[in-house]
Amino acid sequence: MTDLTKLSAAALADKLASREVSSVEATRAHLDRIAAVDGDIHAFLHVSERALDVAAGIDTRRAAGEQLGPLAGVPLAIKDVLVTTDMPSTSGSKILEGYMSPFDATVVARARVAGLVPLGKTNMDEFAMGSSTEHSAYGPTRNPWDLERIPGGSGGGSAAAVAAFEAPLALGSDTGGSIRQPAHVTGTVGMKPTYGGVSRYGAIALASSLDQVGPVTRTVLDAGLLHDVIGGHDPHDSTSLAEAWPSFAAAAREGATGDALKGLRVGVIKELPDSGFQAGVSESFRAALDAMQAHGAEIVEISAPHFEYGVAAYYLVLPAEASSNLAKFDSVRFGMRVDVPGGTVEDVMAATRDAGFGDEVKRRIILGTYALSAGYYDAYYGSAQKVRTLIQRDFDEAFAQVDVIATPSAPTTAFKLGEKIDDPLQMYLNDVTTIPANLAGVPGISIPSGLAAEDGLPVGIQFLAPAREDARLYRVGAALEAVLLDEWGGPLLDRAPMLDSMGGAR
Ligand code: GLN
Repeated sequence: MTDLTKLSAAALADKLASREVSSVEATRAHLDRIAAVDGDIHAFLHVSERALDVAAGIDTRRAAGEQLGPLAGVPLAIKDVLVTTDMPSTSGSKILEGYMSPFDATVVARARVAGLVPLGKTNMDEFAMGSSTEHSAYGPTRNPWDLERIPGGSGGGSAAAVAAFEAPLALGSDTGGSIRQPAHVTGTVGMKPTYGGVSRYGAIALASSLDQVGPVTRTVLDAGLLHDVIGGHDPHDSTSLAEAWPSFAAAAREGATGDALKGLRVGVIKELPDSGFQAGVSESFRAALDAMQAHGAEIVEISAPHFEYGVAAYYLVLPAEASSNLAKFDSVRFGMRVDVPGGTVEDVMAATRDAGFGDEVKRRIILGTYALSAGYYDAYYGSAQKVRTLIQRDFDEAFAQVDVIATPSAPTTAFKLGEKIDDPLQMYLNDVTTIPANLAGVPGISIPSGLAAEDGLPVGIQFLAPAREDARLYRVGAALEAVLLDEWGGPLLDRAPMLDSMGGAR
């Protein structure tokens, strides 16, 4: 029998629709895989006790002849930043240990309505602050390509779950790269939608002007299918865009079969120097551009002089917003409370926040509070907002000349666990190519572009498009994916060395 965990979500959905496979079988296969490998990977913070019951419910409805959505019966992993009524939601923090939400995040509610089967909650850097998942209060996740290496962050759990075939689909959130950078280092696909394109209602806020929820998958089509389920206007989210969106799955299918690359103008930023990028990352990027060119794309050098200042602006805007968003963890309203006998409410609050937050969270709260304080506000936060506007203008000018912008998705392949944990600046610089999209609100996708020659680890290429042009990214991403799969003779993940030795059956 086919290994059900090895199938793409689209292929699994076909087998479910034709009733060749039941959702219970598909779900059990993934739960077995989790049981076999997650002791090593630690992608999950919680595995659902209800998954098989939910799957059985879908099977019953299908057997009764009910018309179900395209992904009905397909298992789904959920980043722990998204609140769920039937599983704890911790956002990777001790302060929310065991927290049960009274409502589901809109994206989770939509996934349930579409018949997806929640498998569990995935590990992440605390409150989504990090690029390695090492800032999780519950221990790190490991990269399935090499267990000594990071799976990216903050959504390392979702990316690792998908890369290790523990789930065909996952949900992530991306404030500065937390969907795209983990995709880059694990050989998976990650899509950050246009700001406002997917509801954040029930996504525990990190920085509200930057946060977006999106899909983490193994193929571009799968990302489109999941995006179709979770996207669109949500009256519960005041930043949610009102318009109707095209089908992203249809865009991906069109890209994979048509000639989306022909005449496509691909912008490459001239100010982004090769230095700072690992040689194998730059080589893989160039090779992907060559492949696109060979299929009719035009590579255009563009100028985006403020792009590289994104990291500096981001580390003022993000801490400022985070310090405000995290004020609600006050020992009264949510989660942990540390009692201080005879102490005031302020004493209890301080003791709780001291015990409940990790170092990186404290660092950013201090930074944000400082940046927003009277006398410094204009010099720091005000300047950062100006840089943000300049980056947005760079994008506007660039997109007058090109259809998409391409960059490597991150400067290096997966680094070793522990390598950057004591060096926040090095950790922050990891997101140099992903952050600008969040500052400008534009969509970005990362798809595998190959393996770096020097270490054999995955590399991703990122495409950016103007706001609201998410469908373009699915067309272009699927087109390049088809070209590269042809060249490679199959998915990169089939070559991940650790995966063969893990879980016996593979
Ligand atoms: N790595 C970035 C940070 O630490 C991005 C995080 C994110 O996208 N949630 O802030």
